[in-house]
Amino acid sequence: MASEPALRVIMRRLREILSEPGDGQARLNKIVRQIAGVMVAEVCSIYLRRRDRSLELFATEGLKPEAVHNTRLNRGEGLVGRCAELGIPINEPDAQSHPAFSYRPETGEEAYHSLLAVPIQRSGQVIGVLVIQNHTARQYSEDDTEVLQATAMVIAELLVSGAVSGTEADIEISKSLTAVIKGEVIADGIALGHAVPHEPRVVVSTLMSDDPAAELARLEAALATLHAWIDEMFEHDRLAAAGEHRDVLEAYRMFERDRGWQRRLSEAVQDGLTAEAAVERVQNGTRAHMLRQSDPYIRERVRDLDDLSDRLLRILTGRGDRQAPVELPPDTILIARTMGPAELLDYDRTRLRGLVIEDGSRQSHVAIVAKALGIAAVGQARRIVEHVTAGDAVIVDAETGEVHIRPSADLVKSYSDKVSFRAKRQERYRKLRNVPAVTRDGVAIRLSMNAGLIADMPHLEESGAEGIGLFRTEIQFMLSEKMPRLTQQTEAYRAVLAEAAGKPVVFRTLDIGGDKMLPYLRALPEENPAMGWRATRMVLDRPALFRAQVRALLRAANGGCLHIMVPMLSTASEMDELRGLVDKELAHARRHGYPLPSTLNVGAMIEVPSLLFELDALLPKVDFVSVGSNDLLQFLYAADRTNAQVAHRYEPLSIAPMRALRSLIRKADEYSVPLTVCGEMAGNALSAMALIGLGCRSLSMAASSIGPVKAMILSLDAGRLQERMEEALSRPETDLYACLQGFAEKSGIEL
Ligand code: PEP
Ligand code: MG
Repeated sequence: MASEPALRVIMRRLREILSEPGDGQARLNKIVRQIAGVMVAEVCSIYLRRRDRSLELFATEGLKPEAVHNTRLNRGEGLVGRCAELGIPINEPDAQSHPAFSYRPETGEEAYHSLLAVPIQRSGQVIGVLVIQNHTARQYSEDDTEVLQATAMVIAELLVSGAVSGTEADIEISKSLTAVIKGEVIADGIALGHAVPHEPRVVVSTLMSDDPAAELARLEAALATLHAWIDEMFEHDRLAAAGEHRDVLEAYRMFERDRGWQRRLSEAVQDGLTAEAAVERVQNGTRAHMLRQSDPYIRERVRDLDDLSDRLLRILTGRGDRQAPVELPPDTILIARTMGPAELLDYDRTRLRGLVIEDGSRQSHVAIVAKALGIAAVGQARRIVEHVTAGDAVIVDAETGEVHIRPSADLVKSYSDKVSFRAKRQERYRKLRNVPAVTRDGVAIRLSMNAGLIADMPHLEESGAEGIGLFRTEIQFMLSEKMPRLTQQTEAYRAVLAEAAGKPVVFRTLDIGGDKMLPYLRALPEENPAMGWRATRMVLDRPALFRAQVRALLRAANGGCLHIMVPMLSTASEMDELRGLVDKELAHARRHGYPLPSTLNVGAMIEVPSLLFELDALLPKVDFVSVGSNDLLQFLYAADRTNAQVAHRYEPLSIAPMRALRSLIRKADEYSVPLTVCGEMAGNALSAMALIGLGCRSLSMAASSIGPVKAMILSLDAGRLQERMEEALSRPETDLYACLQGFAEKSGIEL
């Protein structure tokens, strides 16, 4: 069967049915009759999902009429239930011999051998199933499946708009469909709010057209605009050389020039869909096809295709080819496929409550920024963008990783209670603010906070942190359109020191590269940026960059105490080079009459494992060290910190990293070099406990973690923990995580 005429005929008949008088059920009955006729099937049925996720037969042509509203399939029952659960078409020439077939005598379906079922979906949610059946063992073609899928898409819209339905009383076919997506916590918290898609998805509401010629003209005009946009992007000098952008553009061009893609779009329009609906239909079809491929490259390209189609939809709906500035609701939950730290900072932070993305991990920089902003964030939320429409109510539970979309009133109530419980707990932490962090057996632990924005500084006082253990200076650079000048840098550091009001601030020099790219700093495309030309490697090649920063820091310190820390050192000798540059700046300051700092401490971050084997050379050259456990773990395990797919492959609280950290802590003690841990490990109560058990006495973390970590410390006996860990680490193999959990539980430690 040729797909064009069939779909075109169905669309025409649907339009006729809608223009005739009749109630919802009558229309649904007519629809199944028409579909059966056009598809040359003896049976056509529509099942709709009820609240308990069972499927109720709502209309049929061919099965016994008395089965309508009586036949109910349990969740996942039979081939129809399977189609709904998996959200995929099921095509069975011999359905009855399929092991999943469920026989319902009241329907009389024993007479039919073949079955083709497709899900009726709306916003990524299966709300029902459309089925055709034949007496013969018919093998339905791909065209048949596509026609039925496109029809199901239109039926979904008709159901939701109320144009057709049956006894709708308790059927969930409204726009208020609730959904839960399970992701992974990347920044703790709970947020209730409303969805703002990072790249707003265009919701196509007009699906059928009476004038295919006019629609075709619109489609062609939109394709021409899209073409011009891609050309313009290619010519744009900022993007021309950039590796990743170029890849994306190449992919765009590949799809945009694909004649098959264009043909499918015009065919869908000729079949009676609007240009927008055609884009959505072709996008769905191609996406499904590509996701079936085993080649990961092709699967990855799905995202490019989605972006391209979204852009085409924006052009068609007159929303231009640029993202329109959005008016943020006061309780914004940002929804995105992916987001970089700088993009997140583009939003008005006073209105942000939560973030949900389809990728990301706890150690990614966007997670760190989310944490610094105090917003709840969930990553690895599969297909969240498809499920959410702008303005939807959303709850981000960044305790369990669940994202509730369009939640019920009951759920909102219970989460509101949870939020107030958390607020009470925060209140308790606030009360601990001025309580010294000393364990039950009298071991004092220094707790500092991490910061990167001047706006973080008030948290210093609020959290009771003893100072800033890590100030990420690159954030100012990332926020800036162009390289901040010396005076701007000096001003920024001066403001930070003024806000710190005498508490020490450890300024980390530029850590750019990896996932922190500066738009104005041209870098060559790299295969592996995390291990590439970043941080100290970059500044050693461009000493002027480093010297300008040190000059600004010296001026900002204005004769006071100054702590400078260099990231991503890989050899002890790099420290000599960096010290040399600092000395030059000291000499420059002296020559120009600037006051020299009363104390100048220069320290190194331990993030690259090679340094662990060069400590006798490194430690005498530094005034302090700070362990960047995020990077150290990623390199120790060769596991990309931004890739959550590998995050589960290793456990930070296990023998290898703990032994590495123990020997590092001991060595630093031996050389009397102060050591702090400033990676994410320090801010998690259980891993902070483990670090104390290894002998670490200084931790730096997000301000929001100070309270929970202090509560843990106040309930801890460090001596007993140290013995327990020594014993565990002396074994060749042990489940250290379980051992630490067990210790905490038995000793009544507040985690
Ligand atoms: C780290 O690597 O642990 C660290 C603190 O630095 P960043 O997260 O900024 O790379
Ligand atoms: Mg790091």
